[in-house]
Amino acid sequence: MEGKKLISILVPAYNEQEVLYMLYDRLKNLIDKNTKYNFEILLVNDGSTDNTFKIMQELRQKDKRVCYLNLSRNFGKETAMIAGLDYCNGDAVVIMDADLQDPPELIQEMIKYWEEGYDDVYARRRSRKGESFLKKFTSAMYYRVLQAFTKIKIQKDTGDFRLLDRRCIEALKSIRESQRYTKGLFSWIGYNKKEILYDRDPRAAGKTKWNYRKLVNLSIDGITSFTTSPLRWSAKLGVLVSIIGFVYMLYIIIKTVVSGVDVPGYASTMVVILFLGGIQLIFLGVIGEYVGRAFYETKGRPLYFIDQYNEIKETNKNLNKPRNLL
Ligand code: UDP
Ligand code: MG
Repeated sequence: MEGKKLISILVPAYNEQEVLYMLYDRLKNLIDKNTKYNFEILLVNDGSTDNTFKIMQELRQKDKRVCYLNLSRNFGKETAMIAGLDYCNGDAVVIMDADLQDPPELIQEMIKYWEEGYDDVYARRRSRKGESFLKKFTSAMYYRVLQAFTKIKIQKDTGDFRLLDRRCIEALKSIRESQRYTKGLFSWIGYNKKEILYDRDPRAAGKTKWNYRKLVNLSIDGITSFTTSPLRWSAKLGVLVSIIGFVYMLYIIIKTVVSGVDVPGYASTMVVILFLGGIQLIFLGVIGEYVGRAFYETKGRPLYFIDQYNEIKETNKNLNKPRNLL
């Protein structure tokens, strides 16, 4: 046992009772075969309302390589992931979804590249079975928009399925912002990256927790947490609109002076009011987004609370800091 490196497999799960046994079997198969490393499977229960937590406890009873973390309520996948990173002990961690959309067999290949010295081996989807055309299309468009706004290279068609070296884990743990957009953070921290391709399977069982409302919100978080260029764009557009407005103003003044007062002007007045009013509201919204973010971050609340880590009931002291800095 001694001397072997430890690899953590981190799985955030929210109402995944249908797939957990299947997931465990696939993972067990894999880690039994790989005798070169020790493994821990860290299951993070993100406030599930079904039997997910019971199943986790049951799995740990059977196999002590399974660890679990029970959050005090549902915090969302982004937060569940940072909680898992805080509590994983491995020299590397593999993050994967519970629903087996990310084939565990790929972990073997990730480890191979990790041994070659890569710090972040991420899996890029070659295809996505079982996902609607609309989802694929919006996702592709979104990457494009995000990339246009930021200087950091955001990886296309890449989810959270990846292997991270301890260096990356520590880097991610040191970022304690509450509105997390982990996909961007992976790029932001840098380090040696390696891409591998895979075919994304459909969900093994159960239902997706994503909907378009969540996706839109995550997209806005993605943009506002990585760049202030929407503010810059607002300012530029604002200047342009003012110039046009100013020219139009001059035109009206001169016209009035030259050919006298021209009373019928209802249509043009309405157009100007509505146009400017609309633009102002949009810009207010953009500013509001950033003020809102600043509001959340200045509160400095802990990112999550832990109910239980393995058999131990946790009291949450100062969870604002990564666990190893307490
Ligand atoms: N998940 C989570 N908390 C949530 C929602 C989802 O931990 O509030 C987990 C979920 O259990 C799964 C992963 O995040 O392991 C991806 O979720 P899902 O499969 O529903 O998303 P999709 O693959 O459809 O994008
Ligand atoms: Mg899924």
